[in-house]
Amino acid sequence: MSISTAESGFNLTGDDLINKERLRNLLVELIKIDSLSRKEYNIAMRLKREMEELGATVTLDDAGAKVGGSVGNLIAQFQGNRPSAPALLLSAHMDTVVPGEGVAPVLDGDILRSDGRTVLGGDDKSGVAIICETLRVIKENKLPCGDTDVVFTICEEAGLVGAKCLDVSRLRARMGLVLDSDSVGFLFTKAPAANRIEFRVHGLEAHAGVCPEKGISAIKVAAEGIAQMKLGRIDHETTANIGIIEGGMAVNIVPNSVVLKGEARSHNPEQLDRQTQHMLRCLEEAAARHRLELGGKEHKARVEAKIERDYDRMEVPDGAPIVQLVRAAARNLNCDLKTTATGGGCDANVLNQKGLQVANLATGMRDIHTVNEWLDLRDLNLCAAMVLEIVRVNAQVP
Ligand SMILES: [Zn+2]
Repeated sequence: MSISTAESGFNLTGDDLINKERLRNLLVELIKIDSLSRKEYNIAMRLKREMEELGATVTLDDAGAKVGGSVGNLIAQFQGNRPSAPALLLSAHMDTVVPGEGVAPVLDGDILRSDGRTVLGGDDKSGVAIICETLRVIKENKLPCGDTDVVFTICEEAGLVGAKCLDVSRLRARMGLVLDSDSVGFLFTKAPAANRIEFRVHGLEAHAGVCPEKGISAIKVAAEGIAQMKLGRIDHETTANIGIIEGGMAVNIVPNSVVLKGEARSHNPEQLDRQTQHMLRCLEEAAARHRLELGGKEHKARVEAKIERDYDRMEVPDGAPIVQLVRAAARNLNCDLKTTATGGGCDANVLNQKGLQVANLATGMRDIHTVNEWLDLRDLNLCAAMVLEIVRVNAQVP
């Protein structure tokens, strides 16, 4: 991999500049710091030190207090040496999913994995480590660089709530990258909008052995409704899931309440709305079939729905400056870069919603959210070289 000196104006290769050992060591160190959602204080303090050492002005915002966490989002602002270059945002999240405490990383050649008891936490500490290493290389080599805003968010895994609390007016950058996806060589520019859905089905309780005819089973109503629902992959841009069922009190009580929690996602907002309404209608139609009269009073099953937009879709056009910038950097590195859509949501959804143009660059994390999570360090190094080149190409904008 080499940078075309004609295009970049440098006689260096990104590959040479990235200190692979230092990057790996930092990644391993970060992985060993427990940082479940809302418990990011220790890793935030470590990263605050790192960012200050590199010359950034660091603030921690009030997102932690707002979401009941131990620390807020970390915002590190670097003064560039190319005032004409557009300010750039580089972002990754500090929190990890469960089981994610006491992670013991195992290195096998170039493959880093957990010992099988926990996730690795490469999601998203790979992104965090790459950002740190890139900025260190820039400082070390006094490379040209525009103003850079680094944001390490909290609680991404808990519904993107750290990013939702971020006041983007504190940032100078209006475009940038979130480093939080798997396959290196891909830039994720499209992601679906998602609805968070909670249905509460109300029935009528009764003794299950003595007088079951005086009851309406909320579980039976829910089951009939779910049986009619289209779930899973609905079409090429839409998915839906009921992920949690909670209800009933005892085996001898006809259950009067059951709660269903689920989601729907779509790249198409109308389709998202249609799917969400379809799920509600299935339950309402089931509820309408269950009614009874007791002592002259009519009892009906009913459904209460709580539907919230979890996040809006992300759609960064291929012609957007950030996409063009990543493409130019990839070209310089002889990398074949593809823009693509993902079915997942990330902080970039929220940042785009807040008016920034942010795409999601892959770091090489694999099998995330499982105890089999792993990462190829060669992918990590490649992504770091890519981010470095992105910063350098951005600094050349007249
Ligand atoms: Zn992530």
